[in-house]
Amino acid sequence: MNASSVNMKNSLPVLVIGGGVAGISAALDIANASRTVHLVEIGRSLGGQVAKLDKLYPTDHCAFCPLWTDIKRLREHPLITVHTSTEVKELGRIEGRLHAVLVRTPPVIDESRCVFCGRCQTTCPEGAAYPSGEHVYPPAYGIERSLCSECSACVTICPTGAIDFQRADETIALNIDHVIWASGFKEVDLTPLPEFGFGTHPDIMTSLSFEEWTAEGGINRGNITRKTTGTAPRNIAFIQCAGARDQRMLPYCSAVCCMHALKQAKWVKRRNPAIHSVIFYTDLRTVGRDYYEYARDEIGGSPIRLIRGRPSLIYPLPGGDGIAVKFENTVTQKRDIWKFDMVVLNGNLRSSLEWTDQEKLDSPALTEEGFVNPESDDTSRFSCGFSMEPADVAESAVQAASVAARVLLAKREG
Ligand SMILES: Cc1cc2nc3c(=O)[nH]c(=O)nc-3n(C[C@H](O)[C@H](O)[C@H](O)COP(=O)(O)OP(=O)(O)OC[C@H]3O[C@@H](n4cnc5c(N)ncnc54)[C@H](O)[C@@H]3O)c2cc1C
Repeated sequence: MNASSVNMKNSLPVLVIGGGVAGISAALDIANASRTVHLVEIGRSLGGQVAKLDKLYPTDHCAFCPLWTDIKRLREHPLITVHTSTEVKELGRIEGRLHAVLVRTPPVIDESRCVFCGRCQTTCPEGAAYPSGEHVYPPAYGIERSLCSECSACVTICPTGAIDFQRADETIALNIDHVIWASGFKEVDLTPLPEFGFGTHPDIMTSLSFEEWTAEGGINRGNITRKTTGTAPRNIAFIQCAGARDQRMLPYCSAVCCMHALKQAKWVKRRNPAIHSVIFYTDLRTVGRDYYEYARDEIGGSPIRLIRGRPSLIYPLPGGDGIAVKFENTVTQKRDIWKFDMVVLNGNLRSSLEWTDQEKLDSPALTEEGFVNPESDDTSRFSCGFSMEPADVAESAVQAASVAARVLLAKREG
């Protein structure tokens, strides 16, 4: 008997929650072994956080390009049903069997009918219609409901009848054998830690918003500019462990931030060698990779400046004239205050499972730190990627492959 005949026999679908790199990889591996998969993504498009990134460490290649091929495979796979704009409203057991209730809130513009002509945008008097981002498949326009008065000008102009304000939610009930949580991470609000100055100045931003702001495929087409002036900053401070390794917020290391701060500083130098980058770190954790090599500036020959020390205070200077960073260099034990044009805060990443409603969703048990208990011997509920533990893209894909194998083996044993 081959693996696929065992797996097909009496098996119910596998539910994968989250359409980022981890969920996509797990879904493909399982479906390629002839099991049916339903993949649920709460957002409108697939790709997760990687869709917002620019280049990927350690290769420095386009972040989204490899994912694009996988998304296409996923969409075309006969055993995978993708549910975007969909939420898992209930997940639990009925007579011992796992059962899920999904609710899809269809977007006002039906992406399968949108031909991306842009007439809705040019017609909309409120500026509520917008094109999907660079990485959205299929490309489609969307309507920002908070700006829209439903005047229906777009409905009349749309050549394919794709726009409908009356589309009702759809409910889908599924019996499943296994569930894989691959719901990734979210940024935690840093305002409760006032020393980081988050929210006090537009040029103090988190690493994810900085990467979106400066990405080649983003709004600035790879130009590094200040939000306040639209001009290039003279210098940028990258602050490590903002919110992380801190008992007041996230007691653990977010694992990916040292590498992506080095990556971002390196790309800043590549795109504009005149901008100086300083990384304030606690200790640089770039396991298996030589961070100094990685940070070396190929353009000017000088390294990106690395200072050991977590700043004690970050605050906007009067008149909007830059941002002050007060710190102690813990190598030289000198204290100083430096002025920067931009500040990037790294570290405030938390598993999305922390936000799940445990009452309605039978999600995996979490440790005190908010990540999945690796000791769990549950063979119906799994997790992979950043929702399981802080992990970069490569680690998330490896975890996804391992979870897929466990799901397939669990069925074989049963
Ligand atoms: C600034 C920054 C730069 C980075 N740069 C790199 C890099 O260069 N190289 C690298 O290897 N890694 C990098 N990373 C890490 C990388 O982003 C993660 O490894 C990767 O996103 C993990 O993928 P994932 O699928 O686990 O989670 P995510 O990418 O977070 O995807 C999770 C998906 O699940 C969806 N979801 C969430 N909750 C639900 C729900 N309840 N129901 C349905 N769907 C849900 C989300 O909408 C999302 O689409 C970076 C991270 C940051 C913050």
